[in-house]
Amino acid sequence: MMDIERHEFDVVVIGAGGAGLRAAIEARQQGKKTAIVCKSLFGKAHTVMAEGGAAAAMGNVNPADNWQVHFRDTMRGGKFLNNWRMAELHAKEAPDRVWELEAWGALFDRTKDGKISQRNFGGHEYPRLAHVGDRTGLEMIRTLQQRVVALQQEDYAVHGDYEAYIKVFAECTVTRLLKDDAGAIAGTFGYRRETGRLMLIEAPAVVLATGGIGKSYVVTSNSWEYTGDGHALALLAGARLINMEFIQFHPTGMVWPPSVRGILVTESVRGDGGVLRNSEGKRFMFDYIPEVFKDKYATTEEEADRWYTDQAGNRRPPELLPRDEVARAINSEVKAGRGSPQGGVFLDVSSRLPAEEIRRRLPSMHHQFKELADVDITAEPMQVGPTCHYVMGGVEVDADTAAASVPGLFAAGEVSGGMHGSNRLGGNSLSDLLVFGRRAGAGAAAYIDGLERRPAVPDDAVAEAQAEVLAPLERPGENPYEVHHELQRTMNELVGIIRRAGEMAEALEAVEKLRERAKGVGAAGSRIYNPGWHLCLDLRNMLLVSECVARAALARQESRGGHTRDDYPDMTADWRRRLLVCTAAPDGTSVNVQEQVQPSMRADLITLFERGELSKYLTDEEMAEYDLAVK
Ligand code: FAD
Repeated sequence: MMDIERHEFDVVVIGAGGAGLRAAIEARQQGKKTAIVCKSLFGKAHTVMAEGGAAAAMGNVNPADNWQVHFRDTMRGGKFLNNWRMAELHAKEAPDRVWELEAWGALFDRTKDGKISQRNFGGHEYPRLAHVGDRTGLEMIRTLQQRVVALQQEDYAVHGDYEAYIKVFAECTVTRLLKDDAGAIAGTFGYRRETGRLMLIEAPAVVLATGGIGKSYVVTSNSWEYTGDGHALALLAGARLINMEFIQFHPTGMVWPPSVRGILVTESVRGDGGVLRNSEGKRFMFDYIPEVFKDKYATTEEEADRWYTDQAGNRRPPELLPRDEVARAINSEVKAGRGSPQGGVFLDVSSRLPAEEIRRRLPSMHHQFKELADVDITAEPMQVGPTCHYVMGGVEVDADTAAASVPGLFAAGEVSGGMHGSNRLGGNSLSDLLVFGRRAGAGAAAYIDGLERRPAVPDDAVAEAQAEVLAPLERPGENPYEVHHELQRTMNELVGIIRRAGEMAEALEAVEKLRERAKGVGAAGSRIYNPGWHLCLDLRNMLLVSECVARAALARQESRGGHTRDDYPDMTADWRRRLLVCTAAPDGTSVNVQEQVQPSMRADLITLFERGELSKYLTDEEMAEYDLAVK
């Protein structure tokens, strides 16, 4: 075996976004030696890009807000497919996690009376997003990193070594989770991106915090790291993914110029008063309010506009419907020939707020459009359209401990599944990272405390992982960029925002062929910073998760949240009870999808909803349970 760099830790956290950093902080606070591994530079996680804010029912702007309202909004947004225990924990704990961030130095925008300010976002009944202009994720990462440094300074004072309890391995990619002979997690295998040096970290617990899968699509708001690594690592280690059919297409990505197509236009533009219009100048969202939301959204422009100054006396503007609804509406307008010149619709804030106010509230958006599209959003509308943004599906975890089904494996943040059901509300990811990042770190620490002995990494597992990583360098092979582009086109066109059985079957055939081609991709050159080689390795992950998305989407014969079937346009109560679980063969050659029954909601939670509303989502059998609960 060639020279492999070796380390030993208690916990390996893969990912240095909000979820990974919060998990690492918790594991270290509970006395565990913790490694943070990230394939990007430290500080350049996807979380940095988050703009709008973190949702937490602090009630600072509207005192009527509380965890019960947040829980209800989250369940409605997810169309009741959410893991209700996760939604409950999230709603209850998010305020504490935001206040904790403030105690660690986060500088949130303030209300006039000095509290953390909160802004409106789609699907949230009250202003709920704690924010820092439109750069909230940046402040979150800055604060969490500052906390890591503070802990390292404490460790230096005690042990004379800054890295005694937290060590960061930046620009390192993990390619395999390693298990001992009994099937428990024993470590991770990967390589340093800069030098190509191989790296083994032995550890009894691993927290996956690798984010999403958006790079399987052409038009996406996601950056280069989102190749579904954590999803694939979990699958290959024997864990289960749930809800993979649900992909959030954010309604407002840039559509022009082509080089920036997909880059996000934050929902704060609409939260702060921006409106959507078609080529005829019509505010079309009034035509797209679905039955289940009819009583909650304004039906006239006058009422919608009044809501911005009087939320108690008016209903919300339909531009603030959950993202899946708005994305579908934009898609329909464009298809009906009422789109903007570059194939989107118009998002106008210029006629709604003074220029100075726009520059103050939306500085990044102002800069982004000026620099990238030569559009001044204080003077003219933006052109926007749907973009692949977030994956609701992910590793199936225990809500309280974030433990996956493989002993020693934990997952938090976008790589985990269940919390957001079929559709995530804006702002609920940043708070999810903090709530479940902390729980994953604590879960990993408790797991280690319960172990009788440290699991050992078998030599043959290391040899196999090494051979897999080096293979693309040892063959001339096809260019991996060709295969990647074809996969992206396939997913965008055949498993995109509107889906049909025939097209998804076609996508599965295409993925199968691409998988064969991927076996032969190769990279010229050495192991020293070689992006072609890196992509060869990432392809395995993208193909695997794309197959999960396509298979689960083909199996779910209804439309719900981030899964819209042209051939099954209705949402059905029977399908709400069925979760689709993906597993894979250890060599990743096949994906299997099985149904699993969604557990019934606890009685005290179910009674937070009106019977009439529940009857739109639940089966008769579940309604009978509800009737028992209220008696
Ligand atoms: P990330 O922050 O993406 O971190 C993933 C980490 O894993 C990175 O460090 C990466 O390098 C590492 N990694 C991945 N694979 C590997 C591997 N194989 N080996 C080693 N390391 C690996 N949500 C909100 O709630 N509010 C918002 O306002 C908001 N705005 C958004 C704006 C944009 C433009 C985008 C794209 C998303 C936005 N979201 C928002 C969603 C939210 O930002 C993400 O869901 C969230 O940041 C994901 O955090 P995470 O910790 O799970 O992963």
